[in-house]
Amino acid sequence: MKIGPYDFEEYVEEIKAFHGSLAPGLVAGGIMVDIARAHLPDGEFFDVICETRQCLPDAVQLLTPCTIGNGWLKIVDTSRYALIFFNKYSGAGVRVYLDAARLKGWPAIRSWFLKEKPKQAQNRKAIIDEFKRAGASIYGIDKVTVKPEYLSAAKKNTSAVGLCPGCGEAFRLERGEKCPACQGKGPY
Ligand code: ZN
Repeated sequence: MKIGPYDFEEYVEEIKAFHGSLAPGLVAGGIMVDIARAHLPDGEFFDVICETRQCLPDAVQLLTPCTIGNGWLKIVDTSRYALIFFNKYSGAGVRVYLDAARLKGWPAIRSWFLKEKPKQAQNRKAIIDEFKRAGASIYGIDKVTVKPEYLSAAKKNTSAVGLCPGCGEAFRLERGEKCPACQGKGPY
């Protein structure tokens, strides 16, 4: 079994190096990326939306040119384990999700996915082994059309930049009269 350009075991090593630990979610995520790509027209430019912040974005960043930094990957957090690959102009795309209804024969995955046991009580090796054996069989695939506000063309008008009257640093004027930090929404 291959994930992106990697053999399964190679991909597991890539996860450790990129993500910092062997998170089972990235194994699922790699398989999901391959499924989504296989359902898109060849050679098409696509953007990606992840519906969760947990793990899945790193599988996309590891296996595609789409990153948070270049804006081709966005997170729209519904907390569902799903990703959407879509045409950045038309919004036409495919949504792939880990389907709890298909986990009857996969107890380790089910227990991990539905958090039925605390993390320490789970057998990571068994989970990853089940992901390998389950292949593409535990994921749902739907055709979707992404809303216009999430398409690349929609963000063109929001790039005006000015200096914040509070801190003097440059920020995007769409965020308000002062930068978000001077509005009390900063991280420190
Ligand atoms: Zn400021």
